Amino acid sequence: MSQSVHNFGAGPSVLPASVLARAQHEFLNFADTGMSILEVSHRSAPFDRTIRQAEANARALLAIPDNYSILFLQGGATTQFAAVWYNLMAARVIRERFPPGASPIPVDYLVTGTWSKKAAQEAAHLGASVNIVFDAAKSAATHHTYTGIPPRSEWQFSGPDGRDAAYVYYCDNETVHGVEWDHVPTVHPDTILVCDMSSNIMSRPVDVSKFGIVYAGAQKNMGPAGVTFVVIRNDLLAHADPSTFTPFPIMLDYQVAQANNSLYNTPPTFAIYMCGLVYDWIQEQGGVAGMAEQSRAKCALLNTALARSRLYLCPVAEPYRSRMNVVINLTQPDLEETFLKGAQALGMLQLKGHRSVGGIRVSLYNALPLESVRTLVDYMTEFEAEHL
Ligand code: PMP
Repeated sequence: MSQSVHNFGAGPSVLPASVLARAQHEFLNFADTGMSILEVSHRSAPFDRTIRQAEANARALLAIPDNYSILFLQGGATTQFAAVWYNLMAARVIRERFPPGASPIPVDYLVTGTWSKKAAQEAAHLGASVNIVFDAAKSAATHHTYTGIPPRSEWQFSGPDGRDAAYVYYCDNETVHGVEWDHVPTVHPDTILVCDMSSNIMSRPVDVSKFGIVYAGAQKNMGPAGVTFVVIRNDLLAHADPSTFTPFPIMLDYQVAQANNSLYNTPPTFAIYMCGLVYDWIQEQGGVAGMAEQSRAKCALLNTALARSRLYLCPVAEPYRSRMNVVINLTQPDLEETFLKGAQALGMLQLKGHRSVGGIRVSLYNALPLESVRTLVDYMTEFEAEHL
């Protein structure tokens, strides 16, 4: 981001200025090769060092245990909606839990907004037997909208705590609706927990050992668009007898990606390189704990302003209000366009809410400086005083 604008976009989104400057500095001569990173073979030693270092740094940042693999894949987080289901249906440890030929094998989805809903729909589309544990838009407790998480008493797992499901799936932060889990949902130890952390990964410490799979598109907290980060417990990589599951595309096969160190085919070299630079930056900021600390300061500023306002209203209450994407509705919706235009004129960009929900959305990702939030809050205060 240049110094003169404030980028509140939901993704692709702001990257640390120092990371962009470093990439610019190294752009024409990557690792003393005399070539740009864009021109270097993915099989070359310098690129190999880059991807291995990125992997090691991501492992350190998220304290990923040794019995998990890290994969850098393509197709965006959306591709993982399918890959998760295909891979887990093929996994020997899962197949062993169900009698041979057992069909359908239930998979449990916790639906908190657009992204978990899309994931559930994709699995169903491919033939999964999807059990919706809850859909927050159908719960009175969340006002029949995606503004929170229904109480556990309303959840309907397959078996106790999902015991009879192959896996339990949820999205840690709903980017469109601004709903974020404040805890990891407890599931039965026999099932596998799968989580989409696309829009809050590396923004706080996480106990990876609770999960079978965690994945994230990079283009919010981790780097540019084009690479998807997947963490998978190694025992889930081994396939069952091929006669027991539906064959699926090799590009979706985590086992193949892992066996080839994410280099089965040509990976998105530039995007992976950029993630490596972002990991270095996060490390310099005190790691993911440092990011959580900075996030607290940014949220406190914005949430305090929201609490005292009569114009700005966030439909998502604590504790599920996202720390990453704050959705704001104006009590006078006709002022929205004026608000956005005024913000734009002052260099505050990409504040428009997702096309499906409208309103304003303030994304507070890792790389967004506190100063940008201060600028926005000042503008919000002045705008309210002027128009209300
Ligand atoms: N999950 C979440 C939480 C997201 O925010 C997004 C994209 N904004 C996706 C999945 C889909 O990601 P992609 O566009 O990389 O497929």
